[in-house]
Amino acid sequence: MPPAGAPPISAKADSERGSASPDTQAAFGEILAQLKTSEFRARFSLSRDLQAYARRKGLLALQEHAERFISERLAPAQPFKDGKQTPMKGHPVFLAQHACACCCRSCLEKWHHIPKGRPLSEPEKAFIIALLLAWISQKTQGSLQQEPNLEEAPVTPRRRKGAATRKPAQLSLF
Ligand SMILES: [Zn+2]
Repeated sequence: MPPAGAPPISAKADSERGSASPDTQAAFGEILAQLKTSEFRARFSLSRDLQAYARRKGLLALQEHAERFISERLAPAQPFKDGKQTPMKGHPVFLAQHACACCCRSCLEKWHHIPKGRPLSEPEKAFIIALLLAWISQKTQGSLQQEPNLEEAPVTPRRRKGAATRKPAQLSLF
């Protein structure tokens, strides 16, 4: 006869909890504080350009970018070029990944106890993405909106080095 009131073997409450409860906010604050105790992790910040980019895009777009980066570069059991898959500059999410030790599977294992060698679960991905956004929010002094902020000055593109074939003298408003 099976014991009637047997407790469940593992508590699933964590993965089933909503992502924005005060509890999880506090937990992220704690994790971020802990990451700052690492000199290497604490070194990462957002340049003015990347802060402006983040504000211009808004939280929802950044979340989409984070979802894509994590799904493509981190979530597979054997990510391509694991350990070198996250650039050191170029996107707020990349910087957040380094600062939050979500840059590769070794760092995820060491800091967040998420084992290597198997795909990330959906709750793990959601945790990582929420942590990255919490870091970006912190580094932009909480000035991010959900929606794009088109009044934010666009970041000037830097890739047209010497390519002055066209001269858009009047296009500076965009
Ligand atoms: Zn790493």
